[in-house]
Amino acid sequence: MRRTAFYNPRVNEFGLIDRYFRRVPGDSSVRIGIGDDAAVVMPAAGMELAFSVDMLVEGRHFLPGTDPERLGHKALAVNLSDMAAMGATPRFALLAGALPDANEAWLFAFMAGFDALARAHGVELIGGDTTRGPRNLCVTIVGELPAGTALTRGGAQSGDDVYVSGVLGDAALALAMLQGRTSLAPDAASVAQLRLEAPVPRVTLGVALRGVATAALDLSDGLTGDLGHLLTDSGVGAVIDVGVIPCSPALAGKLAGDERALALACLLAGGDDYELCFTAAPALRERIAAIAASLQIPLTRIGGVGPGAGLTVRDEGGTPISLLPAAFDHFA
Ligand code: ADP
Ligand code: MG
Repeated sequence: MRRTAFYNPRVNEFGLIDRYFRRVPGDSSVRIGIGDDAAVVMPAAGMELAFSVDMLVEGRHFLPGTDPERLGHKALAVNLSDMAAMGATPRFALLAGALPDANEAWLFAFMAGFDALARAHGVELIGGDTTRGPRNLCVTIVGELPAGTALTRGGAQSGDDVYVSGVLGDAALALAMLQGRTSLAPDAASVAQLRLEAPVPRVTLGVALRGVATAALDLSDGLTGDLGHLLTDSGVGAVIDVGVIPCSPALAGKLAGDERALALACLLAGGDDYELCFTAAPALRERIAAIAASLQIPLTRIGGVGPGAGLTVRDEGGTPISLLPAAFDHFA
């Protein structure tokens, strides 16, 4: 890119890159890391590579003033979640950032959050781009998996069980609180806000589901919409039960009270949970319970796949809900 003095003379673009992004490759498969025109890596024998990119735009995906350390975590976490959904082990990341200014305290905190999560998963930052502009963080992730083992959205079979990991709806609940649409007790508020701002990508679960799940995806835009994509791609239908969808005590309280409509929208159509939703044959129930126990990740069977098309959501009494809350769509 053309080298202009974007930033103040004391900290220019290259100063920022050197100070915050450049690192010595700790992974011998990285032949050329940050500093050249492109990174070069050596794929492992017998492995396939998985690629994904996810962008976080200020005002769209996060509120202005969001804690930068949490944002650094989240920018990587949402990409790790896509790797998890494919059953891939994340290996390399590229980070493209537009920043309104060279605020080094902000960058330091952002990279602290990014690096901590990268280290925890053995992910190496191998390149990126840095420019001035409205705040926008875009991470490209590269993962690997044994050839032919990718978990797709297209393999669900009639008769399979439908599962979700963790609890759903807290991220949307936190957003509703931050936007003044609901209120939460202080403890519940900080739990929910952490779920929104620092989601835990289910990487170990994705890997454990290779050869177990028939189809999988991560829940970024809300359960009903995302599961709907999986069903369409698999050419099947499903029935799930609201009464068994796992949620936090705070959300369960609202579901049973006068904020039921908001709670139901959070649970069924809230975005940003980054849990995995997957299908598997009923014969594997014990195996899946063992995976949940060994990884200490709750896995809940929320329904079943059947022939036909579309998703039926039953309320606590078993009655199909006719008007489902809409899933998030940037252009709807
Ligand atoms: P080019 O002009 O070839 O696009 P740049 O000057 O943009 O290269 O970047 C120099 C080096 O720094 C490259 O290796 C690039 O991958 C890396 N880099 C730039 N910005 C970032 C960033 N935000 N995170 C990680 N690496 C970065
Ligand atoms: Mg560049």
